[in-house]
Amino acid sequence: MKVEISRRRFLQGSVAMSIAGGVSLSSSSIMASATSPAKKVGNEDKRVATLCEMCVNKCAAIAHVHNGVVEKLDPNPLFPKSRNMLCARGNSGIQALYDPDRLKYPLIRDGEKGSGKFKRVSWDEAYAYINEKLTKILDEEKDNRSTVAFCAGEGMAEHTFHSFFTMFGSSHFLNHVSLCLATTVSGYSLTIGGYGQADLDNAKYVIMAGANRAEAIVTPDTMDFFKRTKGRGAKLVTVDPRFTNTAAKSDKWLAINVGTDLAFVLALTYVAIKEEIYNKAFVENYFNGFDAYKEHILSNNYTPEWAEKITGIKAADIYQVARDFMVNAPQSIYYQGRRTTWSKNDFQLRRAQAIFSALGGGVDIKGGICFGKSLALAEHEIPSPMYAQAKPRIEKDEAAVVGGSGSWVAFRNMVLEKRSPYPIRALFNYKHNPMQNMPNNAKTAEFLKNLDLVVTIDTMPSDTVMLSDVILPECTYLERTDPVVSFGGIEPSIAQRNKVVDPMFESKPIMEIMRGLSAKLSKPLFEITKKYDEDVQSSIEDDGEDKVYGDFDLTKPFASSQEELNEHAVAKYEGAAEILKEKGVFYPNMNEYFKKTGVNDYEYYPDAKRAYSVKNNKFATPSGKVECSVPALAKKGIDAMPVWKKEYEMAVPAGKFRFVTGRHAQFTQSGTSNNRMLLNLVPENFAWINKRTAEKMGIKFGDKIEVASKVGKTTIKAYPTEKIGPDTLFFIHGFGNYSEALTRAYHNGGNDAAIIEDSIEPMHGASCLHDTIVEIRKV
Ligand code: SF4
Repeated sequence: MKVEISRRRFLQGSVAMSIAGGVSLSSSSIMASATSPAKKVGNEDKRVATLCEMCVNKCAAIAHVHNGVVEKLDPNPLFPKSRNMLCARGNSGIQALYDPDRLKYPLIRDGEKGSGKFKRVSWDEAYAYINEKLTKILDEEKDNRSTVAFCAGEGMAEHTFHSFFTMFGSSHFLNHVSLCLATTVSGYSLTIGGYGQADLDNAKYVIMAGANRAEAIVTPDTMDFFKRTKGRGAKLVTVDPRFTNTAAKSDKWLAINVGTDLAFVLALTYVAIKEEIYNKAFVENYFNGFDAYKEHILSNNYTPEWAEKITGIKAADIYQVARDFMVNAPQSIYYQGRRTTWSKNDFQLRRAQAIFSALGGGVDIKGGICFGKSLALAEHEIPSPMYAQAKPRIEKDEAAVVGGSGSWVAFRNMVLEKRSPYPIRALFNYKHNPMQNMPNNAKTAEFLKNLDLVVTIDTMPSDTVMLSDVILPECTYLERTDPVVSFGGIEPSIAQRNKVVDPMFESKPIMEIMRGLSAKLSKPLFEITKKYDEDVQSSIEDDGEDKVYGDFDLTKPFASSQEELNEHAVAKYEGAAEILKEKGVFYPNMNEYFKKTGVNDYEYYPDAKRAYSVKNNKFATPSGKVECSVPALAKKGIDAMPVWKKEYEMAVPAGKFRFVTGRHAQFTQSGTSNNRMLLNLVPENFAWINKRTAEKMGIKFGDKIEVASKVGKTTIKAYPTEKIGPDTLFFIHGFGNYSEALTRAYHNGGNDAAIIEDSIEPMHGASCLHDTIVEIRKV
């Protein structure tokens, strides 16, 4: 007898999701201007351990609450990752809570899309509206779940939103990765087995290219590292087209032409190989394909003299840096970078950086790139129903490897250009602002307007919120407990964001929003699956509807409270759940290891217990070694070894500029652009333009200029400076918002998403943020 296994029974499964994936300021003036319903709880003072959400770093904080009002945020010294520091943005988290512009109630669009007209509704009405639209779309699309897309910004609660996506059964999840560090993480992972952690505490020589830590990521390890530069233990070479604050704190600054870093790294590699100054024992033991790579570098003549013509960096400097790097190796690091994709060659750039670092032996060793350990958490099982009609993601062939976080630009453009094999009709958007984050915002606006349903869950009325149909107000990070997270590294720990005060207005944590929404949608959407899925129909005949529905019940991931899930996640560590509630941080032997060693210095692990070397001579690559060549990539049209191509030399026409963007110590992308405390420090962004160029154009400090590219224009004030080359223009990201509901950010400064062209690199379809030519005129 032939036994047929139903497709469903075969494919039905579950996804075990690790949750981890992995200045004191008074609030009195703020409270005076906010219509806050924060409850008075008598003269009660309390301290709550939480985690900052003002940028991705998640530093530990202690919130001081008086009479139900968060009055102060202090650093929590127990967390190895943030030691005892909160930066300016961290301190300004209070303003995220008490911003009068924050989203307060569920809203439904009540006018043309983009008109900014919304009506206040109850949560039930908002869910009912979504249900009505969604069932209509899915019925018309015959249960093709992939016609609904999901996108999310980075954050500890992304896991909760992703659980909803997993249960829903769409192929389209999009997050910040293809707008950020997709190429960096994969370049390092494919080459040395992981992105790793740069051990800046113990490195003796660091090359930091384009990574502006003194401004973009002002964390304790950044501050401690700069205590060691300039002849105090570690030598820092900064490679950047701009003289940044990081360059100012470096031992050497090398100004480089934009987009030419790969040529610089290949020339460093040439010197190391040609002069045989690399770590021969390390290469012998831990390299795969070194001879071919050596031949590749030498036969292509990637000499410093060749690189000088491309990069603008003197050949003598390249020789010197390569030799100094190897003299100090293995305590030498070519810093991986914590930032976006710049140019079409970005993936190969990161591969070349990783190989060059490894030539010095500085991988999985104290003072080099370390992989560290992490403290495992119990998993939260999420069922992953198989929807027979769900089609594969539309942009899967737009780059060599389009992973689970998609290629945002490729996806948007395919939908807009009607190249999609089936329609994309709805978008669920959590804490993400593609209008500001994705290049060419004119296209993004059109994309959002064309969709039948855009549901946005956020705390602030961003540009994307204003182009939505339904707005669901999430509470801020100080008003919710988030999934507990394990922070791997040299000094691993677990940390938890605890709720400090109750949610204000009618805002809710994402867990509650997902619980309410899934309860409303679950049965009606199952009715559609029943209608179109023959396998489900026959399963119901065999097993009964209740049993089959159990596999499709959207409410399942949200049955427990966040607090219960967190307790479950750390159950194997005795006492951890209580410690995390009280102190916000836990790691084994914490009581014994944690010591105050100076006025503001702490020790978390004794040196002998730190996870500098963990790989036991085997890297997490296919060969277990450093991969000089990845032939499998060649089959997908990607060079197996890093190669410089003539097309990478992007000439800047006379009178024009190559545009570069970046971050600033006081702002985190667009999420902080309405923050009054931060705007007091830096009121708007300015365009850096070379001083002599500006003089020739009659542009003075503070003059308004229009910056125009092929795709759009923006207006911004000029900052003429010697700190940038004559053919480069720079301003920080996140300003020039279009949303009138952001009273301080609205039309404040220049908007880079309006001018950056939407080109993608070939490996992951990540956005190339530095491949745009602009022209300027005084207005
Ligand atoms: S670096 Fe600053 S903004 Fe980022 S998490 Fe830490 S304190 Fe918050």
